Amino acid sequence: MTMTRIDGKTVFGIDVGGTTVKCGIFSKEGELLYKDEIPTRTQEKGRFILGDISRHIEELEKKFSIDRGDVLGIGYGVPGPVQEDGVVNGCVNLGWGKVAVAEESRKLNGGIASAAGNDANVAALGEFWKGAGKGSGSMLMITVGTGLGCGVIVNGRVVFGAHGAGGELGHIPLVTGLTEPCNCGKTGCLEQAASATGIIRAAQRKLRQSDAPSTLRSLDHFMARDVVDAARNGDALADEVLNYSCRYLAQGLAVAAGVVDPEMYVIGGGVSKAGDFYLDKIRAAYRELAFYASRDAKIVQAALGNDAGMYGAARLVLDSLEA
Ligand SMILES: [Zn+2]
Repeated sequence: MTMTRIDGKTVFGIDVGGTTVKCGIFSKEGELLYKDEIPTRTQEKGRFILGDISRHIEELEKKFSIDRGDVLGIGYGVPGPVQEDGVVNGCVNLGWGKVAVAEESRKLNGGIASAAGNDANVAALGEFWKGAGKGSGSMLMITVGTGLGCGVIVNGRVVFGAHGAGGELGHIPLVTGLTEPCNCGKTGCLEQAASATGIIRAAQRKLRQSDAPSTLRSLDHFMARDVVDAARNGDALADEVLNYSCRYLAQGLAVAAGVVDPEMYVIGGGVSKAGDFYLDKIRAAYRELAFYASRDAKIVQAALGNDAGMYGAARLVLDSLEA
């Protein structure tokens, strides 16, 4: 981008990840004007992270001649449970215990309005605002990655829940027949079958337990996308693994339908890039499993990719100004 100055009211959308912090500058209408990233310093229990972000925001303000008074707010997405008041209840990837992100941010940035949400929740808010869920009234988003990130939007707002774990679909107990524990310590969580890691594990199990031919056997090491590609190319074993994973994902959506009955489901993450081949499996199983009134809810692919979190973080702080 060759932009040299940014005029008008702006909002910062900050997506804090375990290795990098993505920083976006948005207009108040939600146009992404500039983005970049800085490394996440997780040393010493992550105590430098918010200060680093604050310094970077100052640099960006200088770079684009943004007047402090024109910054409406700073929104954060963080990888852990976040309460509605912006207090993070522990964040393993960042080394954080309990951190009052919104309050700390106001202190570090001269009192600018600040808000924080769980990364999956703000990604859902981003898709709802400017992505695949634009124009819908309610939406549930699932990001299929290493884990299963989920966010629920009802009446245009993120469902935070009483403990910051609202919409935490990845850890609803659904999957039978597993012996290894989930990252959360329980066994049988939805993400153990429906995440990208779950797809890889299920494929490895199947390869061990059967002699069926599969192109996956020729790979020393494979990713979830390789399983999807093999299934698409007619590999029966890979297809069976994918059907297993998609059926559980659909079952999770059907459970969620019974609680919030959203207008649509948005599926994001690397695996979702396989498009309709993958989504059609989820759609078919969902139609079969969901209560009849919720059966026609749309299931679509996410549109904003890795930018969704920045969009949603910006929207979150804008919402907090109206509240
Ligand atoms: Zn779990």
